[in-house]
Amino acid sequence: MNILILGSGGRESAFAWKLSQSPKCESLFIAPGNAGTGQYGTNVDIKATDFTAIKQFVLANNINMVLVGPEEPLVKGVHDFFLADDEIKHIPVIGPQAEGAQLEGSKDFSKQFMERHKVPTAASRTFTRETLQEGIEYLPTLGLPVVLKADGLAAGKGVLICLTLEEAQLELAEMLTNAKFGAASSKVVIEQFLQGIELSVFVLTDGNSYKVLPSAKDYKRIGEGDTGLNTGGMGSVSPVPFADEEFLKKVEERIIIPTVEGLKQDNIPYKGFIFIGLMNCGGDPYVIEYNCRMGDPETESVLPRIESDLVDLLEGVAEGTLIDKQFTISNKVAATIVCVAGGYPGEYLKDKTITGIENIRDSIVFHAGTTKVGEDVLTAGGRVLAITTLQDNLFDALQHATADASRIYYDGVYFRKDIGFDLI
Ligand code: ATP
Repeated sequence: MNILILGSGGRESAFAWKLSQSPKCESLFIAPGNAGTGQYGTNVDIKATDFTAIKQFVLANNINMVLVGPEEPLVKGVHDFFLADDEIKHIPVIGPQAEGAQLEGSKDFSKQFMERHKVPTAASRTFTRETLQEGIEYLPTLGLPVVLKADGLAAGKGVLICLTLEEAQLELAEMLTNAKFGAASSKVVIEQFLQGIELSVFVLTDGNSYKVLPSAKDYKRIGEGDTGLNTGGMGSVSPVPFADEEFLKKVEERIIIPTVEGLKQDNIPYKGFIFIGLMNCGGDPYVIEYNCRMGDPETESVLPRIESDLVDLLEGVAEGTLIDKQFTISNKVAATIVCVAGGYPGEYLKDKTITGIENIRDSIVFHAGTTKVGEDVLTAGGRVLAITTLQDNLFDALQHATADASRIYYDGVYFRKDIGFDLI
């Protein structure tokens, strides 16, 4: 089978690494990929949202399956684009159509979905510019802190946790009347604050049955001790020690089954990954958010723990036979540490030569923001490399991953040395 992956981050590197190990994978292409994905397949200079160029490439190279990494092409309808075109509609796309991608693309849509299907989540209501006054009156009913969420995609920046009522009123007005987050905040979800520990659970579904992938916890803040600005993710671990069998059973019964069944009841076809961001509130799971794709850097911790052939599983998704597929997860523990560019998540350094990758022995190095110029590998993004180690226990995995991250050098290199240690 010839497979095309869309995307260019650490997540897509991990997909390329895993898919290239399958005997069913004849050729693998990554559009656009990065300096590391070239070791698992062929990079193609096409943007993940350039649907016309993707179609031409798919036809010219006899592609049999397209796996979509990031949310943007999904929310923009790449799957629908394929289905609407007689020449390519037979080629399976892994990732939901635009309607299913609304689970991530619109927080109002996802909250209504959860309410309709009785999926536990924080109390909330959605407001627009016209109903601003009602929103202001709703705020005090939820207690403090209170959460404001821009409805649309805002690159992870559209969520505000307000500590005072005055701040919440001001921000709500800013979002609705002054378009603080552009069109994304033309609607705002006001949500009750949930106290607890966060984790993520991932589901692969063909629209009927599902497989629950390993759970993971990611670390979003730039600074050690989870301080400072939010980032795309500084590291992750899998499994999550506090997500024991009993908790995961609750997640499956209360959240995963109603979600997959809810999609069916709503006639929303869904073939792909569902990322469920959860809060563990005193042993009970609540959904914080759905994403319509895998997480980054969680994918880099999750995929190395899947022992089964991922191409075989994705074939099951495409054909609707996922239920028959063999699925095993390793008992080993994965730790991922992300090396970022100096200055990230603000204005950051670029085009710095990376050295030391060849000295890494215990870990898998997944490239993210990297590019190849001649024989040199240069930094080309905020998150540069994700280093994953698999060991028998979390402590060893973290130690090895941290030691290997420190073998990487480029001007401005930074990584957190405390990833996962709060869980030990
Ligand atoms: P992401 O960057 O993770 O995709 P997002 O912009 O889609 O974020 P959410 O995941 O809904 O938005 O929220 C971002 C973060 O805000 C969450 O990871 C969580 O830490 C915090 N958060 C969101 N909703 C709540 C809530 N109801 N109670 C407590 N914290 C919350």
